[in-house]
Amino acid sequence: MSPEMSVEGQEDYDLVVVGGGPGGSTLAALVAMHGHRVLVLEKESFPRYQIGESLLPATVHGICRMTGAADRLAAAGFTRKRGGTFRWGVSPEPWAFSFSVSPKMAGASSFAYQVQREKFDKILLDNAASKGAEVREQASVTDVIEDNDRVTGVVYTDADGIEHQVPAKFVVDASGHRSRIYKRVGGTREYSDFFRSLALFGYFENGKRLPSPNSGNILSAAFESGWFWYIPLSDTLTSVGAVVRREMATRVQGDPEEALKSLIGECPLISEYLSEATRVTEGTYGQIRVRKDYSYHHTTFWRPGLALIGDAACFVDPVFSSGVHLATYSGLLAARSVNSVLAGQVDEATAFDEFEARYRREYGVFYEFLMSFYDMHVDENSYFWSAKKVTNNQHSELEAFVDLVGGVSSADFGAHDAESLTQRFKTRSVEFANAVDKMAADDEGSMVPLFKSSIVRQAMKEGAAIQTGVLLGADRGTEVPMFPGGLVPSEDGMFWRVPDLA
Ligand SMILES: Cc1cc2nc3c(=O)[nH]c(=O)nc-3n(C[C@H](O)[C@H](O)[C@H](O)COP(=O)(O)OP(=O)(O)OC[C@H]3O[C@@H](n4cnc5c(N)ncnc54)[C@H](O)[C@@H]3O)c2cc1C
Repeated sequence: MSPEMSVEGQEDYDLVVVGGGPGGSTLAALVAMHGHRVLVLEKESFPRYQIGESLLPATVHGICRMTGAADRLAAAGFTRKRGGTFRWGVSPEPWAFSFSVSPKMAGASSFAYQVQREKFDKILLDNAASKGAEVREQASVTDVIEDNDRVTGVVYTDADGIEHQVPAKFVVDASGHRSRIYKRVGGTREYSDFFRSLALFGYFENGKRLPSPNSGNILSAAFESGWFWYIPLSDTLTSVGAVVRREMATRVQGDPEEALKSLIGECPLISEYLSEATRVTEGTYGQIRVRKDYSYHHTTFWRPGLALIGDAACFVDPVFSSGVHLATYSGLLAARSVNSVLAGQVDEATAFDEFEARYRREYGVFYEFLMSFYDMHVDENSYFWSAKKVTNNQHSELEAFVDLVGGVSSADFGAHDAESLTQRFKTRSVEFANAVDKMAADDEGSMVPLFKSSIVRQAMKEGAAIQTGVLLGADRGTEVPMFPGGLVPSEDGMFWRVPDLA
């Protein structure tokens, strides 16, 4: 052992979480709350910048209520998001949906937040510490420790460059898309052919706002080269990003400032909203940032002693703001598995197979939903149409998707070959596009048709179920397993249990 290496053998952690983003701090809080010894190792010093600012209600009212962070979030003064406004599809007019249309999200919980991630992530990490998790910042995990087939701890380097070994019963990689720890689970990371995109984003002061009551909505506007997000982070600050095809990388990387300006010029709606705005050029929000190739899934999510959650496991295009939902949801699923195994209620393989199956299923639902969403944009010159051609001409992505969902839920994913899946995507996008058209044609702007479309219902279902479960507590009724022979959540949602099928 080198003189700089310290072994923290006396610190017998039940769980080491790699990364203190939303996935990691959700998991850490939910396991520490049960008296287990949890260590979070976070490479950066919080607050730190992160993209992913538009949330979904299930995160705010479901999972963050379970972790105890909801009141801190409510006090932080984030912009309230009632839904989304889209200039998308055949209609030249923007259309809007609001979360309140779903009966499960009606009333006081029919909103989410638009968040400055440095503040949001710090609230979640501080909350995990307040529940008993130990948090070490500027602690960069460089590898895992193995004993035969099992992962038994991690190696990390602290701010002084000193290397430490920490043994643990479980290690969960929640380190996002950038770190390399996920490779130690085995398998491979598969990148999407369909969502081969690149995002270019910056921040503006004094951009316009949508008319009330939708002023806090995310505005998503499609244009020929791609689509824009326009997220009101405060009364004056707006996050603006263009998602374009990856082939535009040279144009974007040469001069990002000029590239963003010219893309804004191509999109009349965003140009109009930014006509009196100035770009922020200093501080955290002063840079124009670029992200590319960000849709992927890993072929396996766990091995004995190690699991992947959040972006470390998979990520799909940001158009429906699903990233933080998937990160916190997978944090909840992993917490149930760790809590159940530590309590001796379920064996590791059964608990983590349930975790993986449910996380893949939720990811698959969003993946399919987003393909339908892109597909309804029927302008043949558009980027979306090109993306669609990729899918129709080469089935590789669909096949990967079939692999992803295959065997996971025969009830929900009856189509197990690429042809029938292509057909299903087509049917669903037509159904979805019709629902939007009906909504636009309705004088009172009723959103009921949108929520009647099966793909939207499905995408909202699991999030709404978590939210309802939390709001109704133990009265939510007995769940049936999602998969044959599978587990169900305990009444408080913190454990798995074998269903009573009598
Ligand atoms: C262009 C774009 C737009 C997006 N927009 C949205 C949106 O509007 N809404 C939404 O919900 N999502 C959005 N997302 C997705 C969102 O950014 C992510 O899904 C989300 O942040 C994932 O959370 P996480 O906890 O898995 O990882 P992260 O938030 O990435 O957190 C991981 C943490 O791990 C730390 N870490 C990394 N390596 C190590 C290491 N070796 N050791 C210790 N710590 C480490 C990092 O410092 C970081 O703090 C967007 C993504 C992109 C690319």
